[in-house]
Amino acid sequence: MRVLRETGEENGLLGQSVLKTGWDRPAPAGKENRGDEGGAVSQRFGGFFTEKRGWRVDAAIRVPQQAQEIIEKLNQCGFEAYVVGGCVRDSLLGREPEDWDITTSAKPFQVKEIFGRTIDTGIKHGTVTILRGKIGYEVTTFRIDGVYEDGRHPKSVEFTSDLLEDLKRRDFTINAMAYSRKTGLIDAFGGTDDLRDGRICCVGRAQERFTEDALRILRALRFSAQLGFEIETETEAAVRLLAPNLAYVSKERIQTELTKLLLSPNPDHMRMVFDCGVGTYVSETFAKLDPDRIAVDPQLPSRKALRWAALLRHVGPETAGRILRELKMDNDTIARVRLLTEWWRRPLGNTEAEIRRVMSRMSPEAYDDLLLLKESVLRYGRGAQRSGTQDEAREIPEWDAIPETSADIARIKAQTAEIRGRGDCVSLKMLAVTGQDLIALGMRPGREIGTALEAMLAEVIKRPERNTREYLLRKFAGDGGVD
Ligand code: ATP
Ligand code: MG
Repeated sequence: MRVLRETGEENGLLGQSVLKTGWDRPAPAGKENRGDEGGAVSQRFGGFFTEKRGWRVDAAIRVPQQAQEIIEKLNQCGFEAYVVGGCVRDSLLGREPEDWDITTSAKPFQVKEIFGRTIDTGIKHGTVTILRGKIGYEVTTFRIDGVYEDGRHPKSVEFTSDLLEDLKRRDFTINAMAYSRKTGLIDAFGGTDDLRDGRICCVGRAQERFTEDALRILRALRFSAQLGFEIETETEAAVRLLAPNLAYVSKERIQTELTKLLLSPNPDHMRMVFDCGVGTYVSETFAKLDPDRIAVDPQLPSRKALRWAALLRHVGPETAGRILRELKMDNDTIARVRLLTEWWRRPLGNTEAEIRRVMSRMSPEAYDDLLLLKESVLRYGRGAQRSGTQDEAREIPEWDAIPETSADIARIKAQTAEIRGRGDCVSLKMLAVTGQDLIALGMRPGREIGTALEAMLAEVIKRPERNTREYLLRKFAGDGGVD
């Protein structure tokens, strides 16, 4: 086991005693000697790592006061306790962790005794949540996962008093580190080296780990996209070999991982999903996507519907909808993606009236997303990427062509701002007349009213100044004598 400690001025690798990992991984070719690039590397990790001085562990891992108190209380009762997993990884990377998980030698009933008010979050797997204000800290007993029976879940779990056993069951080296102020960083599997070198690598034999739980295959690809890391050779070979085991993973979990990948700074890593042979096993229709047409602009805002629409734009709304239904996506997102994949190639128009018409067909948010998607295609289409030119519509291949140029989009944005600035009517909600007005005038509720309101909207889209009660009621609900 390797323990990284900081003592005064002396930072970095101390106490590099290997206790019992039983597993020595050779350094990958070409990565042994990275020279003295201390400055650059240091910046990459928020200043917490330099080649010369190693990791500034205690500076990087800022355990929240409340988590610290939980750890200290467990210690006072004679138990070991550490923060573990994602929070340690993210802290060392100089990223703000989302949540702080705690791992302890105390059994769940002991944790409950010590803290009184707790929530049985995953009691069977040893997890109880301790609430501190609005934040819940998950405290999980050191455990050994039993035999995996369905390619996804262990049949049973066994509690242990050995931290190393707990770290061994975790998926990747960078996720298998624990830390406490008292002990320092416990890095038994080379997690810090893999962080430094930008590598996703399984703890232990990759084939075994993916056979136990096939979700890890997608987690490998997802972390590689989120962190911009490469996948270590043996791990990648196992991804390819065991991709068919994705059949054991629920569609919801597959979708969650793919969404995280798409929302990451490297959404184009979706191509790796296909390169590694995983695409075929995501879902029946997803398998038919053309990997050569995957181009998701990393500058596109990190929103679910927008990024899925960018990924699926070439297959059109029907197939996009089918893929997302197969992946158990929520209906709201499916509707948004369908709309965007339907409209991304359609012309928005030249005149303000034409633009208002498009605006009237969707919500303001969807319309803004549509502009963003069109812009991103111009900026980041595969053609633009290949030729190395930015924003040259003629470089974009036919299958990624849209009617507008970037100059058109700039013009349309300006027109949109004008339309919105004036408050031109672009929806039934903005009409000066309501259904109630028409009922008051004696119209029967139902289709007739709907048709009348639609006719009014069509009129004011052409002539926004006509959006007055007086005009509209006279023309559409009165004697029709105007105009
Ligand atoms: P994020 O929260 O950003 O998704 P994370 O690493 O915190 O990343 P979680 O799913 O929250 O991921 O899991 C917390 C920790 O539990 C991981 O860091 C890892 O140590 C372990 N873990 C999670 N899922 C698995 C798995 N399928 N197999 C093995 N270990 C896992
Ligand atoms: Mg997490």
